[in-house]
Amino acid sequence: MHELSIATALVEQVERAMQQESASRVTKVNVRVGTLSGVDKEALEMAFPLASEDGCCSTADLVVELVQARIECNACGKASEPESLFFACEYCGAVDVNVISGRELMLQSLEIQDNE
Ligand SMILES: [Zn+2]
Repeated sequence: MHELSIATALVEQVERAMQQESASRVTKVNVRVGTLSGVDKEALEMAFPLASEDGCCSTADLVVELVQARIECNACGKASEPESLFFACEYCGAVDVNVISGRELMLQSLEIQDNE
């Protein structure tokens, strides 16, 4: 399962961040996932507790924020949000476009509890 390896990498990233912060417990993990990243939101949410095992993320909630794909047209310069994977400018129909978002797969923020 593709999402399990992504979840494992995410857990490792969280654990490193927690070491840096000297935090003992993470309560919430916020990630941003672009609709073009190829990652399935539900599958990632299911994989996260599996990847956490008994580690510091095992009691954390994973919150996935989906990032809509956005393209910028090289012909007319307008940005639009394509509905399909065949990108074309919704204003002028040009296919000469740049993808400006939607490929994200990143750890956005953590909510942690400090050691008491
Ligand atoms: Zn255009």
